[in-house]
Amino acid sequence: MSSTVTDCLFCRIVAGHLPADVVAQDEHAVAFRDIDPKAPVHVLVVPREHYGDVTQLASGNPALLGRVVELAEEVAAQEGNGQFRLIFNTGPHAGQSVFHVHGHVIAGPEPLGWSPA
Ligand code: 5GP
Ligand code: ZN
Repeated sequence: MSSTVTDCLFCRIVAGHLPADVVAQDEHAVAFRDIDPKAPVHVLVVPREHYGDVTQLASGNPALLGRVVELAEEVAAQEGNGQFRLIFNTGPHAGQSVFHVHGHVIAGPEPLGWSPA
């Protein structure tokens, strides 16, 4: 599966139709700050192509998932000390609220006190 979904919030951000604080991007993926940050560095990394969640991305285009991880690494190096958590909430009961796959890059200058579990 690929392409843009017109009523998808993150497709609209990727297309530049909605504003976002973009911190890094390449031809495959875009990284922008979470509108409601939960850590000193809280950036969302999304593929430009629409996939509903990380399992669909992993099965549909594993190389693209690799590019998303690489962009997360770049964000963590740029914004912090290069160490980071990368969290993919998968399904509404796991806290997923936007159904365009996104990795939460959680990082910061201090050891992270916040834990997802
Ligand atoms: P989820 O709950 O699906 O794992 O994560 C969705 C994330 O998207 C949340 O952390 C939420 O704060 C963020 N978010 C929701 N709407 C917007 C928006 O319009 N712009 C940005 N930058 N982040 C958003
Ligand atoms: Zn989308």
